[in-house]
Amino acid sequence: MTPPVLSVRNLRVEFASRRGVLRAIDGVSFDIAKGEVLGVVGESGAGKSVTGLAVIGLIDPPGRISGGEIYLSGMRIDNLSPEELRRIRGKRIGMIFQDPLTSLNPLYRIGDQLVETLKTHTNLSESAARRRAIDLLAEVGIPAPEKRIDGYPHEFSGGMRQRVVIALAICAEPELIIADEPTTALDVSVQAQIIALIKRLGRDHGTAVMLVTHDMGVIAETSDRVAVMYSGRIAEIGPVRDVVQSPLHPYARGLMGAIPTLAGDAARLVQIPGSMPRLSAIPPGCSFNPRCPFAFERCRIERPEPIRQGTQAVACHLYDTAAKETAA
Ligand code: SF4
Repeated sequence: MTPPVLSVRNLRVEFASRRGVLRAIDGVSFDIAKGEVLGVVGESGAGKSVTGLAVIGLIDPPGRISGGEIYLSGMRIDNLSPEELRRIRGKRIGMIFQDPLTSLNPLYRIGDQLVETLKTHTNLSESAARRRAIDLLAEVGIPAPEKRIDGYPHEFSGGMRQRVVIALAICAEPELIIADEPTTALDVSVQAQIIALIKRLGRDHGTAVMLVTHDMGVIAETSDRVAVMYSGRIAEIGPVRDVVQSPLHPYARGLMGAIPTLAGDAARLVQIPGSMPRLSAIPPGCSFNPRCPFAFERCRIERPEPIRQGTQAVACHLYDTAAKETAA
């Protein structure tokens, strides 16, 4: 059996602070298969971006991976040296960040940046790399790519720049792309085009995509599966259609209720009272318990582990029927 493109097992990430060690990720596990888009959604501080950074080996001190394992197509990568990881980034893992200018050098023509990346990761000659760069720009929807290839980043609109970043991310034909809020800074109409482009990556190139966003609407449009994160853990994971239509975790239920429908069905807009706890103040037991309308005694003491429910897995004591049967 072919291994998943990305397999994250029991990942833990900690940050040392004056108040002691803060655990930003606490036992996160998931897989992404070839050609699959996994959406990772949650509020700011839920740990979704940190998970993406851990996968690409870009957790800066005082942060560190303190436990767990990360595998890329069966090869363990969390214990590689910074140099080995640098080689994997760009070649086997592509990255798309919210601000395209993080990935583009304003001083170089975009063609030079694409050609340079292509030459680093492939055996193409200068002229073949330039031809490939033009093809890539056409593929991501840059009009007149043979002319625009000689433009500088500032000569492109935000949406066009993000397309260039996607061309850069896919140029070495990576197995995995980590896209962190790739559409957040863009106009709504441009967002839809970038979403369509990301979707095509999985379909046409077989690339596995980890799409990190706070926007459940983007996930619903793009992803095959979704992981809902809360306080550094996965509250629920499953096929996007199932999680959107029948969310199981009380937090996911609130989150899904907050997706406005096309019909503008305001009755679906549900607010979850309270806010996510700071890393320094995560309550014992289930970290959602102070906000959860269903919380009971056990929730304040014992941390729920993921429980399989059909196609979904949910970390909530409400679904622990074995324990209920034992107690009965
Ligand atoms: Fe609510 Fe308890 Fe489930 Fe946590 S474990 S989501 S507090 S019912």
